[in-house]
Amino acid sequence: KMENATLKAELGRATWRFLHTMVARFPEKPTPDDRKTLETFIHLFGRLYPCGDCARHFRSLLAKYPPQTSSRNAAAGWLCFAHNVVNERLQKPVFDCNNIGDFYDCGCGDEGKKDK
Ligand code: FAD
Repeated sequence: KMENATLKAELGRATWRFLHTMVARFPEKPTPDDRKTLETFIHLFGRLYPCGDCARHFRSLLAKYPPQTSSRNAAAGWLCFAHNVVNERLQKPVFDCNNIGDFYDCGCGDEGKKDK
């Protein structure tokens, strides 16, 4: 099938939103198992993301800049950085990672729960 830039961009936006929202809820103090789970997830994501070119680029990004999983802050900062690497390659504006704090809200309504 032909490339459809609109669909490709829509998938990208939805995916970035999901990934940033996911790491915004990663534990502040992850267990070794939490850390392994996130690292494994990111690598599997790089294998399975349906845009083949995007996934290939992302895998080389992972090889150069391994995912940071020591804390929520580290994970969110790493993902923001990685997204900015993609932004630069696509000649999009770079996002200020200092502003990532409250930007991604899952709307889950269970913020009071431990470590969420
Ligand atoms: P997006 O980049 O989708 O970002 C959505 C919103 O996130 C922005 O409007 C902004 O509010 C916020 N944002 C921007 N930067 C950051 C950041 N650093 N941290 C946190 N939030 C931020 N498209 C291609 O054409 N070629 C590719 O090779 C390619 N590779 C991709 C690889 C991955 C892993 C993913 C998830 C997507 C990839 N895409 C690729 C899609 C591309 O990154 C964009 O999602 C798409 O072009 C739509 O761009 P957008 O301008 O709407 O903003």
